Amino acid sequence: MLKHERSRNIQQAAQQFMPGGVNSPVRAFKAVGGDPPVISIGKGAHIWDVDDNEYIDYVASWGPLILGHAYPAVVKALQKAAERGTSYGATTESELELARLVCGRMPSIEQVRFVNSGTEATMSALRLARAFTGRDKVLKFEGCYHGHSDGLLAKAGSGVATLGLPDSAGVPASFTAETLLAPFNDRAAVERIFAERGSEIAALIVEPVPANMGLVPPREGFLQVLREITKASGALLIFDEVITGFRLAPGGAQAYYGVTPDLTCLGKIIGGGLPVGAYGGRRDIMQLVAPVGPVYQAGTLSGNPMAMAAGIVTLRTLADEALYRTLDEMGAALAQSLRDAAAAAECEVTVTQLGSMMTVFFCRQAPYDYASAKLCDTARYGRFHGAMLDAGIYLPPAQFEAMFVSLAHRQADLDRTAEAARGAFAAARA
Ligand code: PMP
Repeated sequence: MLKHERSRNIQQAAQQFMPGGVNSPVRAFKAVGGDPPVISIGKGAHIWDVDDNEYIDYVASWGPLILGHAYPAVVKALQKAAERGTSYGATTESELELARLVCGRMPSIEQVRFVNSGTEATMSALRLARAFTGRDKVLKFEGCYHGHSDGLLAKAGSGVATLGLPDSAGVPASFTAETLLAPFNDRAAVERIFAERGSEIAALIVEPVPANMGLVPPREGFLQVLREITKASGALLIFDEVITGFRLAPGGAQAYYGVTPDLTCLGKIIGGGLPVGAYGGRRDIMQLVAPVGPVYQAGTLSGNPMAMAAGIVTLRTLADEALYRTLDEMGAALAQSLRDAAAAAECEVTVTQLGSMMTVFFCRQAPYDYASAKLCDTARYGRFHGAMLDAGIYLPPAQFEAMFVSLAHRQADLDRTAEAARGAFAAARA
């Protein structure tokens, strides 16, 4: 057992001053149990907690750190930027540079607006879509997460075209009533909803590769169908690539699957580990954003020079397509070694994997939507997570998340992970 004394003390003290001692709920480990380590250092693929325990990290700050922690060129760029002043609330050249990189690599994005989080990106993209179409309803998929703005906190409700019910206290039902829900990968459900209410739908928003119900890849042709249906009905197709953007391919999931959305939401990797988000797309739509158009959206720290500096270095480094082959190979190898470890321990799991993203689902069949994902044995995931943590492997502290491999992971890390997994799968079965 690792010692967690200092972590425990800090977490306990923090509970007095912050709800649950955290600033984002999943960090409290409620979904898996056990004590969350308080982290003090990250370097490459490894993190250390305040009790000096070392872990191989597969959370990667929930996706941004595709180059690993404290990537030297990112640190250098941040130091240089900080010396020139951390924020001016005025335009800097770095915004133009990052905008050029984003638009150059994702041709569907002709213009982009930087914000401070993924939540802001999706919230703003929907406002824009509503203004552009003059319609109010939005269709999202159950199990897809698009941040915590009121109208998007809806995924509950059975049936096909049910009106969204709020997932959180404090969200008026009237807000989520504008949100329609469909099961992911269910083409017939989407067709039915558009047949019934297509003329009211401003946008369909989707994680092209959902990673927030665990990793659930789209069925062949599903994203193409979404493109065709939205086009036919005059609704905008919004890809939420906050996770997949620059992780799955240089051009994101839209390049990977060859489907062009009208608007794209970004975050995570484009900020290289600093708080950032972005939304962008067709010029004729983006021209509605203030100050050019009537859609108000603003931010004191938007386009922050520190965030831009970290994002520029990250995207420039990722210009080398060969790096994505390396990530794909590492991802496939790790997923296979986890499957082998589970088989050796006679523990029933399904490992979904795409590029450097994967999820170990404690169920027999690969989930294809939220309902099938929820059939997983989350208690087993909790035991697996705890045993892996004890063995020095830091996994997402919830079943319905994705693990990330970074370019800083080495073969020795993957080998150690597979070895730890053999014991952890046995512990999960118990
Ligand atoms: N969209 C997706 C697909 C996400 O995964 C997330 C966060 N994990 C968000 C939006 C919200 O981003 P943020 O936490 O930066 O607000």
